[in-house]
Amino acid sequence: MPDSMGRHAELEANLRRVNKRIDDAMAACGRTDRPNLIVVTKFFPPGDVVLLSKLGVRDVGENRDQEAAAKAREIPDSELRWHFIGQLQSNKVRSVVSYAHSVHSVDRNSLAIALEKAMARHSEHSDLVKEESTGNRPALLDCFVQVNLSAEDAGRGGAQPSHALEVAARIHDAGHLHLAGVMAVAPLGGDPRDAFNRLADISSELVSRYPAANSISAGMSGDLEHAIAAGATHLRVGSDVLGARPPVG
Ligand SMILES: *Cc1c(COP(=O)(O)O)cnc(C)c1O
Repeated sequence: MPDSMGRHAELEANLRRVNKRIDDAMAACGRTDRPNLIVVTKFFPPGDVVLLSKLGVRDVGENRDQEAAAKAREIPDSELRWHFIGQLQSNKVRSVVSYAHSVHSVDRNSLAIALEKAMARHSEHSDLVKEESTGNRPALLDCFVQVNLSAEDAGRGGAQPSHALEVAARIHDAGHLHLAGVMAVAPLGGDPRDAFNRLADISSELVSRYPAANSISAGMSGDLEHAIAAGATHLRVGSDVLGARPPVG
């Protein structure tokens, strides 16, 4: 098992480094409320998720249903919470709600509606599902409205800022969804500080309407310090914990 031991030590050291960066960033801006660290495990094998769980990680993020579903099935660790953070097609929603604790990428009304329908159906069958269910999934699915902060239309996914409150209303009105807050990815090539400050403004607007929807999912390996300064409550960190991902075509 020397390989697995080496990997364990590597992940432990990487986690320690990332947690130190979080500590330092909190100190730098005088924050005392620690953001939640979601370790993004996409492209990495289930064995890494098992090691992370042994290291105390409780929140893991995935961006593709097929990969996430397979891992959640293979690792029925009731302590793990699976966060879906990638662009989501409505035809994948039934699968996603069977394992996910939260969806960070709700960017359109039709997706909110599809998630609500799938959650309603899922909870109707929850007595049957319970035994094979993966993780400690609550009755409500936490949903973040993903906001597009880039100038171009498509950007890195997300609703246009002007449309975000409408998507939020759909989530808020859905009986099986919990409106958690907003999520964004800083645009490539821009200043992440500007982006995260804009996200914080959108969050304030949302919170003035829905006081409980005060979560902000922002910050990745390269920009988590700026996200913490702007008030992020959920960080999504992949490569600085797991290492470089294989390039995607
Ligand atoms: C991959 C991914 C992350 C993690 O990015 P790193 O730069 O590896 O930390 C965060 N958020 C989303 C939406 C992602 O797809």
